[in-house]
Amino acid sequence: MKKILSDSISRKVKKIYLFARGIAYYGTNYHCNICGKSFRKFLPGGFDLPIIKEMDIIGAGRRNHICPNCQSTDRDRLIKSFFDINQELLSDNKTVLHIAPEPSLYNFLKKYKNIKYIPAAKYHEGIYYPKEMTLVDLTSMQFANNEFDIIICNHVLEHIEDHKTALKEIYRVLVKKGIAILQVPYSLKLKNTHENPEIKSEKDREKYFGQFDHVRLYGSDYTDILKSAGFKLNEFIAEDNISPNKIEKMKLFANETLFVVNK
Ligand SMILES: [Zn+2]
Repeated sequence: MKKILSDSISRKVKKIYLFARGIAYYGTNYHCNICGKSFRKFLPGGFDLPIIKEMDIIGAGRRNHICPNCQSTDRDRLIKSFFDINQELLSDNKTVLHIAPEPSLYNFLKKYKNIKYIPAAKYHEGIYYPKEMTLVDLTSMQFANNEFDIIICNHVLEHIEDHKTALKEIYRVLVKKGIAILQVPYSLKLKNTHENPEIKSEKDREKYFGQFDHVRLYGSDYTDILKSAGFKLNEFIAEDNISPNKIEKMKLFANETLFVVNK
């Protein structure tokens, strides 16, 4: 009881803090398409590691990209842009599974009362995740075959050792005409995805994969990995769909491909 109360107070304090921070950074240079507010600057986030620059890893690196108000990152705003362009995806009675839900996207999707929305993660990590999390192991999900119309799995697979089983599971629970957004950080300079079970320490993972808890660095063959799992690719390239002005205002990677797949 005490813990629930303190969690609830922490959430409220955090909400007030973020609101105040949003006001402090108010401006017109940058725009968050999730909370709808504009700012003079976004806040810094991400890691500054040599491999990220050396390999031009898309979706990684230290830069100002965090919304001072809703804490969205560029990767969240790219997904929101995708849904803005494909609004019909969130039509009545759609079932949506959101793995390791980012708070900003969670708040966005929660507003859709017409969909069945399930935020799910392997661990319940305090106030980062919403209260009503479903615990799920991506490599062995408790859901029935063909249960979800939409699956969002944003920057998760690079943390999972057995990503092939995870992809199989995502394929299994996705309906025939459904879509899964399976975004990962990737390098087009790397032909073959780099993974090596010997690389275990946080230091080595930073050195080779670009983050202390990543178990591989995806290369240009990521599309082949998705195809091997049975998926058809339906890529959404930022600069083909979003104006250069909006890309800059939202601090997106212009050349980023959002990996959207279906069965
Ligand atoms: Zn925001």
